[in-house]
Amino acid sequence: MDFLLISPPVANFGQATAGLSVLTSYLCSRGWEASQWDLAIDAFHHFHSPETLEATRALLSSQPDKVDARVLEVAERVVRDIDEAKDALRTPGVETDQARMKWAFETINDAGIVLTAASFGQYEHDFRHFGVDEAFRNFKTLDEALDDPARNPYLAYLEEYALERIEREQPAAVGISMTYFSQVMPGFTLARLIKRRFPEIRLVAGGSYLTAVEHDLERVPHKVFPVDAVILHDGEAGLDQWLKHALRGEGQPDAIANCYLRGPTETFTRSGERSLHHTDLDDLPVPMWTLDGLQLDKYLVPQYPIPLPLSRGCYWGRCAFCNISCQTVATYRTRPIEKAIADIKIALEQTGSNWFDFPVDSFRPKELRELADAIVAEGLEIEWGAEVLLDPGFKDDLIVALARSGCRTLRFGLESASVETLKAMNKPTRPKHAARILRACKANGIQTAVMLIAGFPTETQRQLTETFDYLVENCDVIDYLTIHQYSLVPGSPMAQDPAKFGLYLLDQDAVLWTSMPFVNTNPVGMKSEDLPDVVKAMKEGLREHYPELGELWTVAIGGWMTFPAACGVRRRLVHPVSGG
Ligand code: SF4
Repeated sequence: MDFLLISPPVANFGQATAGLSVLTSYLCSRGWEASQWDLAIDAFHHFHSPETLEATRALLSSQPDKVDARVLEVAERVVRDIDEAKDALRTPGVETDQARMKWAFETINDAGIVLTAASFGQYEHDFRHFGVDEAFRNFKTLDEALDDPARNPYLAYLEEYALERIEREQPAAVGISMTYFSQVMPGFTLARLIKRRFPEIRLVAGGSYLTAVEHDLERVPHKVFPVDAVILHDGEAGLDQWLKHALRGEGQPDAIANCYLRGPTETFTRSGERSLHHTDLDDLPVPMWTLDGLQLDKYLVPQYPIPLPLSRGCYWGRCAFCNISCQTVATYRTRPIEKAIADIKIALEQTGSNWFDFPVDSFRPKELRELADAIVAEGLEIEWGAEVLLDPGFKDDLIVALARSGCRTLRFGLESASVETLKAMNKPTRPKHAARILRACKANGIQTAVMLIAGFPTETQRQLTETFDYLVENCDVIDYLTIHQYSLVPGSPMAQDPAKFGLYLLDQDAVLWTSMPFVNTNPVGMKSEDLPDVVKAMKEGLREHYPELGELWTVAIGGWMTFPAACGVRRRLVHPVSGG
């Protein structure tokens, strides 16, 4: 095998990341013998198995002075229930059974409480987090934490499980793709273990998390992260060029797109020009997404939602708080319709699933209509969801066409319902248009997911109250609500010019971090230290109108069951269950 592309733990147990399958498909089309491995789902099952949890329970009960009796009770329960909870989320119909989903998520979450308790304060470990206290303070603390078995349970797991497969399959090169912060320590651990055991294997890393912390990359010591190259942003061309260079000695390192190489010093150096290469979605093979290497029955969903990224970037790309311009440099592209339809047909055939969750940052209304019309014209009976802007171009007739093509949910970044705050954010959304679009979606059976930001630096209490009132007024047309606390992210316009937004940057006291510490000097804005309480109070006030607020399956982006739940609701509307 030429190349094994790995998604390390900890990631989403409902779906493999789209990039893994798209890059693998691309590299195979370029003649490489490439395969994908979602190691994250394997690790999830390992740590959330009755065997591991029983061993964890035994460890905890051997230290009664250090462990709260309630944790031992929880441990007994999760050992008994974990398999049933995992099966519950895979059972068709669970998406409409909130009590069952709640029980299953609570059980899996409780397993995390037990795993974390067994670290005796050293780390946090559950189905969506892995973090070691103080590890990211600097590269020295990170290096120490990575090599410490007491703080890094992935050392033993990856050494035993991942290295065994790598030894068996003997790839010439391995790629490690990190989408979430929770993957950083396990991903770094994997790179270090592979380099120590198999120094001849060439190693490359990438993914949207590393792209988001690009500002730190030239400071990462090789010793901490011993990969040969890091490829950021769109990875297709860069990976193909890097493989040619690393495995066949072809091409110049300077010509590898979007790439950092091990430099002559102890850190990484940007190869060639700093200009970015963007993948033309027309150049991707058909199919752009491959199932090969994935085992769909491992995922905890009643049916697999195929993540097909039919667009990249954002056609607006100017919101002050957003780092989309950092991750994809705002170059908006879509897959040509005929190829998108071919991708959908092949994925339908290969997987037997007709659920498509399009992981996109935005999709222009006109282009989404063309896609919807083509889905109907081809007679494709699919159910789909996507993230889009609250763009006035989503006219009522267009929303009818989307619903007819199988659209079950749309996710929207409303961010605020105050026009003043939206203007300060440079967000084109307006509350009046938003309400019309949300209403039209609901009238056509499309479930709506809305995301908000609380505590934007210029936001006043009055403006936040305006948003609160709007959410109450429109609660009948908003199905899923997610409220994020404002954070300053590298690569956003606000991070590039903080003074313009009244922000005073503080010294960063962490590495590879996507949130920048600041002082808000806006005379009317809320203090950043008050924000957690403000957000908490807002959520509490809204719970009466949004009883599911904060439930794990309702999170709009990367939601665990939002998309399946939206499909389930629709099915109930179309085929009402009679007889109670
Ligand atoms: S917040 Fe949404 S609309 Fe604004 S730039 Fe980012 S992706 Fe585009």
